[in-house]
Amino acid sequence: MGTVVIVGAGFSGSMVAIHLLARRDPTLRVRVVERARRFGPGLAYGAVEPAHLLNVPAGNMSAFASDPDHFLRFARQRWPSATAGDFLPRATYGDYLEHLLRAELRASAETAECLADDVESIHREGQHGGFLVSLRSGKHFDADAAVLATGNFPPADPLARFGAALDEPRYVRDAWAPGALSGVMPGERVLLIGSGLTALDVALSVHARGAGHIDCVSRHGWTPLAHRVPTLPSRATPVQERILAMPPTARGYLRCLRETAKEVERDHGQDWRDVVGGIRSITPRLWARLPLAEKQRFLRHLRTLWDVHRHRCAHTAATSFTGLFAQGLLDLHAGRIAAVSWGRDGVEVTLQGRDGSSRVLRADRVVNCTGPQGNPARVDDPLITALVASGTIVPDDLGLGIAVDADGRVVDGSGNVVQGLFVVGPALRARDWEATAVPELRVLAERTAEAVSRAAC
Ligand SMILES: Cc1cc2nc3c(=O)[nH]c(=O)nc-3n(C[C@H](O)[C@H](O)[C@H](O)COP(=O)(O)OP(=O)(O)OC[C@H]3O[C@@H](n4cnc5c(N)ncnc54)[C@H](O)[C@@H]3O)c2cc1C
Repeated sequence: MGTVVIVGAGFSGSMVAIHLLARRDPTLRVRVVERARRFGPGLAYGAVEPAHLLNVPAGNMSAFASDPDHFLRFARQRWPSATAGDFLPRATYGDYLEHLLRAELRASAETAECLADDVESIHREGQHGGFLVSLRSGKHFDADAAVLATGNFPPADPLARFGAALDEPRYVRDAWAPGALSGVMPGERVLLIGSGLTALDVALSVHARGAGHIDCVSRHGWTPLAHRVPTLPSRATPVQERILAMPPTARGYLRCLRETAKEVERDHGQDWRDVVGGIRSITPRLWARLPLAEKQRFLRHLRTLWDVHRHRCAHTAATSFTGLFAQGLLDLHAGRIAAVSWGRDGVEVTLQGRDGSSRVLRADRVVNCTGPQGNPARVDDPLITALVASGTIVPDDLGLGIAVDADGRVVDGSGNVVQGLFVVGPALRARDWEATAVPELRVLAERTAEAVSRAAC
């Protein structure tokens, strides 16, 4: 019998497990190890507040690419009038994933096992596959294949260079850590570092907790744009043929997107979102065509611009956020943090504006909302650190995730494929660029399950 261990039961790990178990292969044992309390929801859909909505409409959130309404049918048991264009609560999506995984585990009780534990190390036992998996509880077991579905790594610490923040209780280093915002008191001034989707969620959460004022600081001061109302699927545009005909440069891609967006808005009453959505299915291809230097150029100059257009938020979340701004409860600042000083009465953060000006913001609490970091060599996590230290995993050339081959198998520090060790989830960003949202991850999870079952048997 072959054994597969799946590390992490968020969307990616759960869906790999579901696809593997659905094969009903009596010779394949699947062990899913998850450190959080629940199996299925993961970081994004687990410990969330009622105000946190999906940022993708329900009609695009099915766990199965072949059955687009699958999530919608589940959601309608709770909200009979839910439509494909609705942005439903993230908590409902967490329940959906938990329900799917449980059902598959029940149906495969003979060959499946869930372990509520933390994988601390995975050692290669030979050149041709085979791993010894060690858990925090002290248990060990052998596996023929392993899937790293450990999700987004915690964010980098933007205050590390100022020292002294590490032990500071008024500094929340990771907005998604369990209970991260529980210390926020009514009337407090809260400073958020970052102004993307995480900052938007955190602003709504700390406002609900009675925060007195919120300052949002980021390099550009840009916030995510909203989906259009009503939510419509992207309408066809000529963007795919045009962009594929462009020389592969970051600037060329940008020009093509801009010009096509202007044209379809002017001539066909369409929307720039049709153009951004129009390249989604070919994004991995467009990304792969870019030489390394062009990818670096894109990351340096265009990443934020891309993120605010591509990773949009529900319009209700955008309305609540702009409402805070309009009421004077939230201010948005563009610039770099130049100095941080913690005192008895709070923290003073000196901001260097993009125009060279300097200003001091005062707050009672600082929350790091800079979003996940990708480079495994910089992550403070026992498993990832051990895998990096042994040379089993290495960062990809761009430091966006883990180096893998075309099948998602890990490529080690010597450039060799590690047979039987797979990666699925956002750590595939460097290979595909689009590897964060459900519409892409569901396809990647299914493909990973196929490759894993070949490797384990
Ligand atoms: C706040 C937030 C909101 C999002 N909203 C949306 C959305 O609305 N729509 C959308 O399409 N995408 C959304 N995303 C993108 C999201 O990345 C994917 O949808 C998806 O949830 C990623 O799943 P994952 O399993 O790869 O990672 P995760 O959900 O992070 O799951 C990884 C799991 O691995 C576990 N784990 C890690 N290391 C170990 C270990 N050593 N041992 C045991 N367990 C371990 C963790 O506890 C975690 O449960 C959101 C992301 C975030 C962060």
